[in-house]
Amino acid sequence: MTVSSGKERPAPRPIREGLFWGGLSHPDEVKLAGTRCSSCGETSLGGVALCPNCGSAQVEVLRLSDDGTLWTFTVARHRPPGDYRGPEPFEPFGIGLVELPEGLRVMSTLDCPLEQLRVGLPMRFTPFVRHDKDGGMVFAFTYRSLQESAS
Ligand SMILES: [Zn+2]
Repeated sequence: MTVSSGKERPAPRPIREGLFWGGLSHPDEVKLAGTRCSSCGETSLGGVALCPNCGSAQVEVLRLSDDGTLWTFTVARHRPPGDYRGPEPFEPFGIGLVELPEGLRVMSTLDCPLEQLRVGLPMRFTPFVRHDKDGGMVFAFTYRSLQESAS
């Protein structure tokens, strides 16, 4: 029989390996990582060893900018299948592609009132920690609108 305090929790893990820049111990300082290829010039999401566009190993992992603009979006009006962790009862939410200055577009949920969603809206990377279905901690992210609410 193993004695355990039962209070030890594993450190949060990234929702996707290589997705974040730097460590995960300071949630407010977490950034997205990207990979820039010096052969073809493509910048892709996450730190990878080979360029997903041309297969070159001549890649550099870089920290991506926090701020981008909304390139396109849709609204999820039905509860997603699987391990959905959003509010109960379900509330419709935005999903979109945010274009970053590095030249790539990141698929993300959008933390923004639905009536404010429009192409070109300034958005900011916002990391957060949530629990997965096994009780572990998962590092995930959304993009939050930088536009002030209409007053
Ligand atoms: Zn390449």
